[in-house]
Amino acid sequence: MAELFYDDDADLSIIQSKKVAVIGYGSQGHAHALNLRDSGVDVTIGLREGSSSREKAENEGLKVLTVAEAVKQADVVMILAPDQAQRGLYASEIEPNLKSDAALFFAHGFNIRFGYIKPGAGHDVAMVAPKGPGHLVRREYVDGRGVPVIVAVEQDASGQAWALALSYAKAIGGLRAAGIKTTFTEETESDLFGEQAVLCGGASQLVQYGFETLTEAGYQPEVAYFEVLHELKLIVDLMIEGGIAKQRWSVSDTAEYGDYVSGPRVIDPHVKENMKAVLADIQSGAFAERFIADQDAGAPEFKELRAKGEAHPIEATGRELRKMFAWVKPSDSDYVEGSAA
Ligand code: NDP
Ligand code: MG
Ligand code: MG
Repeated sequence: MAELFYDDDADLSIIQSKKVAVIGYGSQGHAHALNLRDSGVDVTIGLREGSSSREKAENEGLKVLTVAEAVKQADVVMILAPDQAQRGLYASEIEPNLKSDAALFFAHGFNIRFGYIKPGAGHDVAMVAPKGPGHLVRREYVDGRGVPVIVAVEQDASGQAWALALSYAKAIGGLRAAGIKTTFTEETESDLFGEQAVLCGGASQLVQYGFETLTEAGYQPEVAYFEVLHELKLIVDLMIEGGIAKQRWSVSDTAEYGDYVSGPRVIDPHVKENMKAVLADIQSGAFAERFIADQDAGAPEFKELRAKGEAHPIEATGRELRKMFAWVKPSDSDYVEGSAA
């Protein structure tokens, strides 16, 4: 059984006695910074010159400095720039300005696990990773609840790294829900696997194949969209509430029987073999290497794949149909539909 932490297991005064620099003010950055501030923590935001996020942070009354200046004065540096930007940012702005005993915090283990960032021996290295997008992390906190976090310590230079990490986790509201103890390796590998094989890669491909199969057989795209994409949310909500069992309990007996006989036919044992190959590429570092090499070259493969995905016919069908769904409200005002196609 995993080791769990709650509010009573953490001492908020530890993080309240530190100066925290939050580097980046995006999805996670804004949520961590605002929750820390509202928990009575001294927070400074570190952003690059000309950052488009500066105004948002300043409008919240937060102190904004360059990354170098924010790091210089910090006891705890939480790095919340995109994973592919962290290595360069660490080498040029963070490492040269880091206090000798400052703690380095992450919300994902990618750069530590794959060796793109190698902190000196004097630094505590910890992870507090909310299991949800930043906008939810902020909304739950404001509503008096929290999004569960996973917590790990890679390097305990001070001997107090766990207490510090748990204090941070409490300050962003995570321990109101629960903290789960993990390691950088487990978090990084399982997170990449989950998003690639099931949540993002697997689910997207499954929906696209379902849509293609129906429309190629002559069914109307609008009807296909409803059946293979829109209703997915209803099914997933049931799974979240009560597992796969509750989903099967709620649907018709026809749907439940079809689930048993056709699910394993569509997702056959080859799929599990493919999943194992995906996991092996994650564990060996091959996926990380491919991602970072492409990013370093200006992301040509990434941009091409993104444009190809957005050009799939299901997107155009969905854009038209969603105009009829008054109840489907985008939760993120920054997203521009069709921007990469
Ligand atoms: P975002 O893409 O939302 O971060 C954008 C922020 O980083 C902006 O403030 C942006 O500022 C800044 N930034 C971008 N590029 C650079 C750069 N080269 N140098 C300095 N600052 C830069 O990131 P996320 O919040 O999605 O991810 C942050 C971390 O949290 C990652 O490690 C991620 O894996 C992890 N995480 C993310 C989750 C999520 O739901 N998004 C969930 C759990 C963990 P600018 O205006 O200058 O571009
Ligand atoms: Mg991830
Ligand atoms: Mg149906």
